[in-house]
Amino acid sequence: MTNELHSKVCVIGAGTMGNGIAQTFASSGSQVSLIDLNPEALARGLATIEKNLGRVVAKGRLSAEDAAAALARITCGDSLSAAAGCTLAVEAVVEKSAVKAAVFAELDELCGPDTILASNTSSISITEIAASTKRPDKVIGMHFMNPVPVMKLVEVIRGKETSDETTALVVACAEQIGKVPVEANDFPGFVANRVLMPMINEAAFCLQDGVSSREGIDTVMTLGMAHPMGPLALADLIGLDICLDILEVLHAGLGDGKHSPCPLIREKVAKGHLGRKTGKGFYDYE
Ligand code: NAD
Repeated sequence: MTNELHSKVCVIGAGTMGNGIAQTFASSGSQVSLIDLNPEALARGLATIEKNLGRVVAKGRLSAEDAAAALARITCGDSLSAAAGCTLAVEAVVEKSAVKAAVFAELDELCGPDTILASNTSSISITEIAASTKRPDKVIGMHFMNPVPVMKLVEVIRGKETSDETTALVVACAEQIGKVPVEANDFPGFVANRVLMPMINEAAFCLQDGVSSREGIDTVMTLGMAHPMGPLALADLIGLDICLDILEVLHAGLGDGKHSPCPLIREKVAKGHLGRKTGKGFYDYE
């Protein structure tokens, strides 16, 4: 197996996370194939990468030539067949087990035997995702944080059958692209969302109960707890649909009532008020 795991990367899903993951790999020299079944999502994802690279150039952290070269390393496709030949596939489609299982089964057929298949899932079992492939030793969680180009952490999650070799290659790959990997075992929500989501859920209950306004709740957590962002603003950044899906996985997997999603989150998702990506969530956005 090659040490250059990130030489040819395929990113499946061009949404909030997928476009950030593609930008990060392309900026580190990887050839990137960005795939989304929805051509509009693909165009939006590419436009976001271009805009974000422009911001890095404006801040003087990257030359215009390097930004153009990074962008040129990204090709887009609307079919999974574009994943053939990649050294590493990173899946960032919706947080639904059945959708992820179908994507992994197809990737397993399309990719060469040495390709490592990683999921950016926030909460779903890596062991379960791996079971839809014939290479469970080469399936792993690579959980990036939002916004990906800015946030240093990558949670690396070992499924029950993930090999030591796969883990070592993915840890090294995360470091090569400038991230700090932290290994976690395969429990619902791993570390990041097992700790974060109960706080977001409780903040939504505080709003629903009228304990304080949305600004009041967020200010208590920013000024009172030194969090860089309040939990309601953070939920809007993550996407309320994603938060709901993660809470459902935590509730089903850990069986604790504290993970039962707040009805206010359900109501907003039902209305299509998903946060920043739809222009409305707990807050309104331009
Ligand atoms: P998103 O809704 O913004 O984007 C998902 C994209 O996947 C959409 O563009 C959709 O068209 C595409 N898609 C759906 N099914 C597909 C398929 N079968 N093949 C190809 N593309 C498909 O979601 P997101 O917020 O980017 O989340 C993606 C994953 O990353 C989820 O598993 C989520 O839990 C995880 N995650 C999200 C965050 C966050 O802050 N949003 C943080 C860490 C991890």
